Amino acid sequence: MNSLFIAVPAALTTAGVISYGAAYPRAQLFGKTISRTNSSRKLAITFDDGPNPAITPKLLDLLDRYNAKATFFLIGKYVRECPELVKETIARGNSIGNHTELHPNLFWLNPKQVRIELRLCHDAICNAICVPPKWFRPPFGMRNPWVIPAARELGYQTVMWTLIPGDWSEKPVDWLIPRMQPIAQHARQNLANTASANAPGGTGDILCLHDGGHRQLNADRTRTLAALEHWLPRWRDLGLEFVTIDDAVRTPAP
Ligand SMILES: [Zn+2]
Repeated sequence: MNSLFIAVPAALTTAGVISYGAAYPRAQLFGKTISRTNSSRKLAITFDDGPNPAITPKLLDLLDRYNAKATFFLIGKYVRECPELVKETIARGNSIGNHTELHPNLFWLNPKQVRIELRLCHDAICNAICVPPKWFRPPFGMRNPWVIPAARELGYQTVMWTLIPGDWSEKPVDWLIPRMQPIAQHARQNLANTASANAPGGTGDILCLHDGGHRQLNADRTRTLAALEHWLPRWRDLGLEFVTIDDAVRTPAP
């Protein structure tokens, strides 16, 4: 057989594997990531691209109303502009993560550039809250072979998601609400399984939403707020607990 016919599919397969490892949220090809909670009762709600003075304070109030804790993956340049908001987020029992300094697609950056992006955001957060964060989420979920090791050097575990409904879209909230339906569906299924097998445990969802926008500060995320206003009481009534990533991976006391 002509070697061309062997070489071309092999090249295509390699490209496919690389793009899977770079972009698929639960892929572990470029290093281990957290992409589920350790109990079907625990829902970890996460927000990227803040802090955002236009939305984050309202969101903190909404979360408080349902005794919900969440994890916020922050952009370093915004942390420098609103350190008080970051302090407030932590003071209200939420967790903070690193989402790079300028939100580039890390897939295209070399190891040194990746380290700088992580380090600058790390320093901004440490200056604001005096505690190094433990969680990192790559912008756009994009990784390459040196992203997760660079995060690990700074003491981070990388956090992905099970559901990303696309709340950055300009579409109305009536479009967004049904896209968050899988969370309730999983909760109902797990509840039915637990009731029939009397077997608690399983794994739960990590939901990726946005309280900011990486293009500019004060992005409009009122649709995200409205969709959460709709879902939080419903999820609570299904028996879900709203936890930070810290609690999502913590082994419950026996
Ligand atoms: Zn982002």
